[in-house]
Amino acid sequence: MPAAPFTSPLAESLAEGLLERFLRYVSVDTQSCRERTSSPSTPGQLELGRMLVRELHAAGIADAALDGNGYVTATLAATDPATPVIGLIAHLDTSPDAPGAGVVPIVHREYDGDVLELPLEGTRLDPAAIPELVAKRGHDIVTASGDTLLGADDKAGVAAIMTAAAHLAAHPELPRPTLRIAFTPDEEIGEGATLFDIERFGAVCAYTIDGSELGELQDETFTASEVIVTVRGVDVHPGQATGKLVNALRLAAQIVAALPSDRLTPETTAGREGFIHPYELTGTAAHAQIRTIVRDFDDELLERHVELLRATATEIIGAEPRARLEFEVRPQYRNMRHYIDRVPHVVEAAEAAIRAEGIEPLRGPIRGGTDGSRLSEMGLPTPNIFDGGHEYHSVREWASVQDMAAAAATIVRLAEVWARLGARDVEARVAG
Ligand SMILES: [Zn+2]
Repeated sequence: MPAAPFTSPLAESLAEGLLERFLRYVSVDTQSCRERTSSPSTPGQLELGRMLVRELHAAGIADAALDGNGYVTATLAATDPATPVIGLIAHLDTSPDAPGAGVVPIVHREYDGDVLELPLEGTRLDPAAIPELVAKRGHDIVTASGDTLLGADDKAGVAAIMTAAAHLAAHPELPRPTLRIAFTPDEEIGEGATLFDIERFGAVCAYTIDGSELGELQDETFTASEVIVTVRGVDVHPGQATGKLVNALRLAAQIVAALPSDRLTPETTAGREGFIHPYELTGTAAHAQIRTIVRDFDDELLERHVELLRATATEIIGAEPRARLEFEVRPQYRNMRHYIDRVPHVVEAAEAAIRAEGIEPLRGPIRGGTDGSRLSEMGLPTPNIFDGGHEYHSVREWASVQDMAAAAATIVRLAEVWARLGARDVEARVAG
């Protein structure tokens, strides 16, 4: 039996190596930047990419390479060449929504279940406010120092894939299909799939390791659009403005204030409910801009939320004939379920792998998107598997070493499941 709280002896054997990797990866600042002029948007992602390529080479994975756009790819050959090619994906960047430079991780060994007080800025992780933490008593918990995010999103996924790949490379007797690995840049700014060469990757399906709680398996994401509302006013020196000034910033603020606040917001919705989320308001009296994300699991409801935003803006700006309104809708990604439903064995294989690791799969929709949302739409069905991190995009971000190790072990099991599936396919073909 594994020593609690490990899910298996395999997970336990992988844990310390994984933690070493994880601590190394989070110390590289890979925060992406929304104003992207090239890929990747920031040089730190290349630095991490180079580090991963060196480590993959050291593990004996000779074809590992970093391309000019910041994508790392590598191949582990199959034990049985008749098996299909399966992809494993995690992202290199961290969120621009919280400070991401100078991460100093702290390992809280054998967490005792109390409030975790971090040394900087009074940041605390209170199990009363974080129910997932309650279940991690006895785990080794990694946090940052209170002033930055940790970067478990998605370096927990990167570390899990790297650990599983090194383990498989060192144990050529373990069954696996051909595994194609990709580490993508700029996922957090919605660009992870943009320059992903699916044809060269050559996999029939893939898995992102970018979920959260132990056992999570997700084949449904939001359908997502960004809406940019631009208001143009009439700017006049305030001393001579009587009857002339039309303040764009004030009008933009009115639009934000007129949107529903007791429903259709991220903070008042859960489960399958969608929302309209203004996340940036910038401007001057002459010109103002509201950046809004609109989300739903249902494409038609998403359309309705966008129309509500449009009607609200049109009504407010329509009342001031000297102001002008521009309303731009940018579709971002679509609920991956449309594409993954067609290949149910892809999710079944992941369920079997999670169960083989002794974990009950946790199914449910992701209130967000992953690289898999767009990759699935582009023709590579890509559900999402847990990685053991929590409270993403915040200074309270944390991860359980035991659960990250469980993610690495689940990848090893997934390889075995696919190796068996492949053999069965071959038998079926011979029999047919
Ligand atoms: Zn992520």
